[in-house]
Amino acid sequence: MAAPLPELDWPLTRPFWDAARKGRLVMPRCEDCARHVWYPEERCPDCRGERISWVDVSGRGRLFSWAEVKHLLHPPYEGQIPYVSGLVTLEEDPRIRYVTRIVDCDPADLSIDLPMEVVFRTLTFRGVAGGVRAPVFRPARTPARS
Ligand SMILES: [Zn+2]
Repeated sequence: MAAPLPELDWPLTRPFWDAARKGRLVMPRCEDCARHVWYPEERCPDCRGERISWVDVSGRGRLFSWAEVKHLLHPPYEGQIPYVSGLVTLEEDPRIRYVTRIVDCDPADLSIDLPMEVVFRTLTFRGVAGGVRAPVFRPARTPARS
């Protein structure tokens, strides 16, 4: 489900990882039509605008789907098994389905549309020096805004 490794140095995603290191979740947004453009692209998929800037998002969303990963799919993830991989839709735009790690919960307690919130964790990958500070999601501990 997730890409084997975070694309830390790809120009289109570098601002995302730079912000994550500072504990911020950011998404590209089209300056013309205000659509969030995730996964990052050079042009807005709606209006084809090229003026795209990074904005902070709330880090709140809902669980769209998830899977408990019990078997090794990618060698760099050795040592992390088992973990829960999931898709979270963001409050700002439910069309965004963010591929992420689900943490701090028993997978048996997860359900579709469960309110989620971002937390930041350092993930380590075999073959990659140091760790990667990454946004991951857990079931929300504070009530969702109504
Ligand atoms: Zn646009």
